[in-house]
Amino acid sequence: MNTEMLCAQSEQDIAYAAQLIKNGELVGIPTETVYGLGANGLDPCAVAKIFEAKGRPQDNPLILHIAHPAQMQELCQNIPQSAWLLAEKFWPGPLTMVLPVKDIVPKVTTANLSTVAVRCPKTEATRKLIDLAGVPIAAPSANRSGKPSTTTAEHVLNDMNGRIAAILDGGACEVGVESTIVDLTDETPRLLRPGGITPEELTELLGALEVDPAVLGQIANDTVVRAPGMKYKHYAPQAQVIIVDGNSQAAAEYIRKRFQKNDAVLCFTEELPLYEQLNPLAYGSAQNNMTLSAGLFSALRALDAPEISTIYARCPEGGGVAYAVRNRLKKAAGFCVVNAEEEA
Ligand code: AMP
Ligand code: MG
Repeated sequence: MNTEMLCAQSEQDIAYAAQLIKNGELVGIPTETVYGLGANGLDPCAVAKIFEAKGRPQDNPLILHIAHPAQMQELCQNIPQSAWLLAEKFWPGPLTMVLPVKDIVPKVTTANLSTVAVRCPKTEATRKLIDLAGVPIAAPSANRSGKPSTTTAEHVLNDMNGRIAAILDGGACEVGVESTIVDLTDETPRLLRPGGITPEELTELLGALEVDPAVLGQIANDTVVRAPGMKYKHYAPQAQVIIVDGNSQAAAEYIRKRFQKNDAVLCFTEELPLYEQLNPLAYGSAQNNMTLSAGLFSALRALDAPEISTIYARCPEGGGVAYAVRNRLKKAAGFCVVNAEEEA
C-alpha cells in the first residue's frame, strides 16, 4: 500500500480523507494532542485494521472522536450532567470522557467494555473530516504499539508507511501529549490519564476527582484495570530511561559521573551548558511546561535508537501540564526515578 501525504489546509484533501474513512481505510489524523490513527469507529472491519497496523493488543480500547459535543448522545447512555459541563468548558479540546456505551458501538472499538471513551478534538480540519465522513472516528495514537507517540506527520510516516492509506498533515501538535482521560461512570469522577486539561482544572469544575493508581505508579500485569492501555509499557524508546530529579547542578553531577559512551542526556534548554561534550538533547524550557509537553515525544523518538543504552532524563515536577509530562516520562522509564540530591 502506498501511503499518501495529504494537506490539512486543503478542503479537497480533507474531503478525500473523509472518503477513505467511509471506505473503511486508515488515515493518520492531526489533533492538538498527538496524531491519531483514524478509522470509521462504527465499522468493526475498519477498526480491526487499526489494531493490525499498530500491533496493538486487542484488549486496549480506542477513543471515538466526534465533531460536536451533542454526538455523545449517539454513542453513550446515562450521560451525567457533569459530562455536559465538562464538554461545555473543555470541548473542543484535549479531554476524553469515559461513559456507558450504546449498542451502536462495535465491541472491537471498546475492547468489549461496557463503557466508551469519547473526545471532541480542537483541530478544525479533523472536526471537518469527522463531519464529512459522517461517523465518529476511532483513533489511538498513530505510533507502532509501545513506541513514543507521534506529534508530526513525519513521525506517522516513519511508523506507518505502507500500512495505512493516507496521512493528513496538519503540522506539529500543539499540546504534544495524549488527552486527559476522565472516567464518569462512577459516583466520583476518576482521572485515568493526565494530559493537557489539568487535574486542577477538572477539580475546579467537578468538585472531587480520584486519581487512578495507574497514573501514579506501576501496576502488576495481571491487574484488571479501568483503562486497559494503562498496564502496558508505553511511550518508551529502546534504551533504559532513568529520570534524574533534584536541582540542575546536583543532577548534572550525578549524570556526568555515570555517563558512558552509548548513553544520552535529555534535559531542559536551560541545562544544555551543564552537559557539554555529552551531546545533550533539550525538549523544552523548565520555565514553560507547555514547551516540554510539545517537545517530549519528538525527543523520545529522536533517542529511540538501538545503539543508545541509557537515557538520563530531566523531568518537571508539580501540577498543571507538568503532571502529564511526568506521567509519560515515568512510564517511558518504567518508573525508574532517582534523586540526585540524595544519591550523589
Ligand atoms: P491511545 O489510543 O494509545 O492514546 O490510548 C487510548 C487510551 O484510552 C488507552 O489507554 C485506553 O485504555 C483508553 N480508553 C479507551 N476507551 C476506554 C474505556 N472505555 N475505558 C477506559 N479507558 C479507555
Ligand atoms: Mg498511544
